[in-house]
Amino acid sequence: MNVRVPLEVSASPEASACDPSPVLRERGQREVFCGLTSIVWLHRKIRDAFFLVVGSRTCAHLIQSAAGVMIFAEPRFATAILTERDLAGLADVNEELDRVVARLLERRPEIKLLFLVGSCPSEVIKIDLARAARRQSAIHAPRVRIVAYSGSGIETTFTQGEDSCLAALVPALPEEDPAAGPSLLVAGSLADIVEDQFARLFDAIGVPNVRFFPMRAADDLPAVGPKTRFLLAQPFLSETARALEARGAKRLSAPFPYGAEGTTAWLAAAADAFEAPRSRFDAATLEPRARAETALVRHRATLAGKRIFFFPDSQLEIPLARFLAQEMGMVPTEVGTPYLNRQIMAEDLRRLPPGTRLSEGQDVDRQLERCRAERPDLTVCGLGLANPLESEGLTTKWSIELLFAPTQGYEQAGDLAELFARPLMRRAALEV
Ligand code: SF4
Repeated sequence: MNVRVPLEVSASPEASACDPSPVLRERGQREVFCGLTSIVWLHRKIRDAFFLVVGSRTCAHLIQSAAGVMIFAEPRFATAILTERDLAGLADVNEELDRVVARLLERRPEIKLLFLVGSCPSEVIKIDLARAARRQSAIHAPRVRIVAYSGSGIETTFTQGEDSCLAALVPALPEEDPAAGPSLLVAGSLADIVEDQFARLFDAIGVPNVRFFPMRAADDLPAVGPKTRFLLAQPFLSETARALEARGAKRLSAPFPYGAEGTTAWLAAAADAFEAPRSRFDAATLEPRARAETALVRHRATLAGKRIFFFPDSQLEIPLARFLAQEMGMVPTEVGTPYLNRQIMAEDLRRLPPGTRLSEGQDVDRQLERCRAERPDLTVCGLGLANPLESEGLTTKWSIELLFAPTQGYEQAGDLAELFARPLMRRAALEV
């Protein structure tokens, strides 16, 4: 469901010493999806995992409508629905939950990893899902690993669902073998096809022992420790990055792998950390990089010089603004992000055009006023804002689509640019 959360209002422009971009901080009503949404892509990634949402009928509707229309496999998610009796404290929720889990695991023996996913209602009535996961693990281990995290929409945005999920899984990652050499962990869900492309590129560049997290099979947990270097493939993984660092792993700073330049710099961060020879790096990236650049040229005529406004939603906004400004010649008028993690975003922030207005958090009415006043050529926003803005004659792009489509890496660069070019071309066709 789209969450409208009224909070206190304050707005202050702010710039930091290391990054001079001004930031408008806003706390007001905001329009976002909740973290349950990330189950839509996570359940496709870890193929023997199951996501059991402990929530209300609303949560069940959200998951079914968001995921149900987009997948054609047997669902690996469900909702244990809290009733009025649970909410009024008249039933023992823990006992009922244990029964539901036991029934589920009996019926679905292929499940190896079970996530208990908290929701707004389960948080409001304070069901301790972490404790429930420990209790149920004692019953069902070692056949099934049971982990809890929150997908609630209270004060969160939808990509945080993946962050919370992966962070909850980090303690289960095995310790790296002290006798083994250094390894690279790529953290953040990628489409399988993109993951395979990156694996081939790292191999060609000479980066050893590359693992991806989340993994495709529950039992295939990547090891982590002080010799692990990690690259984030998604920019919304602040909590996961902290958890990996607490295990001794070190984050490699890089822009996110969008477009030809973003992908090259991202791969180069790993090549440098592993001291791969530059000649080998250049040889491995020359052709795919040229293919990406050629694919981008086709869309530059549509995008160059166009003004783009990002509402805060997916947390992809800053890396995408970097790609569109640096590689496609677009002009970001405002780049909104739900949360600004300056460390993780550092390499994208410093590549943004000087003076780009950043906003963190949201006061949706004030932001709509700014957007209407600026009349950008393209507005990137959530589903709840897109239709009203379209009816006012603004051209929009749904930010959630950018999560569902494979967009990272050289081979997807053209498709990524096309996602932004298409609404502009459609608008131009309608106006003829
Ligand atoms: S977790 Fe909260 S915001 Fe998400 S569907 Fe359930 S009630 Fe709605």
